[in-house]
Amino acid sequence: MSRNTFAHIDLKAVQHNLKQVRNLAPQQQILAMIKANAYGHGVLEVAKALSTAKVDGFGVAFIDEALLLRAAGIREPIVSLEGFYNADELRIAASQQIAVVIHHVSQIEILAQTALKQPLQVWLKIDTGMHRLGFLPEEVASAHQRLSAIKSVQKINLLTHFACPDEINNHYTREQFKLFNQLTEGYFGLRSLANSAAIMGWPQTRGEVVRPGIMLYGISPFADDEGANHNLLPVMTLQSTLIAIHSLKKGDAVGYGCTYTCPEDMPVGVVAIGYGDGYPRHAPTGTPVLVGDQIVSLIGRVSMDMITIDLRNHPKAQVGDTVTLWGKGLPLEDIAQLSGTIGYELLTQVTARVPRRYE
Ligand SMILES: *Cc1c(COP(=O)(O)O)cnc(C)c1O
Repeated sequence: MSRNTFAHIDLKAVQHNLKQVRNLAPQQQILAMIKANAYGHGVLEVAKALSTAKVDGFGVAFIDEALLLRAAGIREPIVSLEGFYNADELRIAASQQIAVVIHHVSQIEILAQTALKQPLQVWLKIDTGMHRLGFLPEEVASAHQRLSAIKSVQKINLLTHFACPDEINNHYTREQFKLFNQLTEGYFGLRSLANSAAIMGWPQTRGEVVRPGIMLYGISPFADDEGANHNLLPVMTLQSTLIAIHSLKKGDAVGYGCTYTCPEDMPVGVVAIGYGDGYPRHAPTGTPVLVGDQIVSLIGRVSMDMITIDLRNHPKAQVGDTVTLWGKGLPLEDIAQLSGTIGYELLTQVTARVPRRYE
């Protein structure tokens, strides 16, 4: 392989981060969220690493994501967060023992009309204020009753999702928590509310099953924060190499749009990574990039296949040097913030042409 651009995936770091979740939620079952190809890290490798570390189960977005896991021999419980979209998917879910989230009355209708050969585990999703998926407070009792009356429904668990758990002073989370407790009082079944931000910031909401995602990948869910502050290790380190160095003159423009002009004679490096790989096009001039151990700055616009960097403070840089865009030594959270986005987006947008290397 000639282009040395890789996403290094540290599976030991995933296992370490799972241990941190367990420290925070020692009584709870841990449902690891591995939707969207395990946040871009590679779903089968991450699932196997977590399985080895004795995770209790997995959460995915939809049935096809769950089937990938079953086909690879993953035996742990799996929950499909969007449930099923039609009767065919429902039958597949039951036969593959994929638990489904029931978030809308149309799903109850399909369930009532579909004969299933195997029992089905369901999670009743309650909308306590996010207003995305789930039954409204006044609909919960009837949804629960209708589900209880369906023979193939084996067990009804209960979940909700917080809208602002990453805002530690926002009372909305407390209100959602209170409402969930009121609405689920007296029901059997497991209760699950907490994503990473709630696990870390709202300990009272941990319930019986927690649903960590981003923290398993070593990234903090909070703004102006990083995983290292919580003893989390970054799992993905995105690296490439320096493929050219030029001595430019004062006044020379760099890249598309000529948005950067050299303020003096200076060395400029070119790195073989761009937005076609998932490096954010909105990363501005000044965004840190590591050449070896030396921090330098991105300059000019990010292209599809390349970026340009200011090498004035790294005169020893050479073509072939390893360049780190984020991960070990350079927090993803910083790059996300400078680019006007969040770590979740950067991780899930690393494109298929970037080989993942597992170590
Ligand atoms: C993605 C997701 C999670 C995990 O969220 P993080 O912020 O990554 O921890 C938990 N619950 C639901 C319903 C989700 O969709």
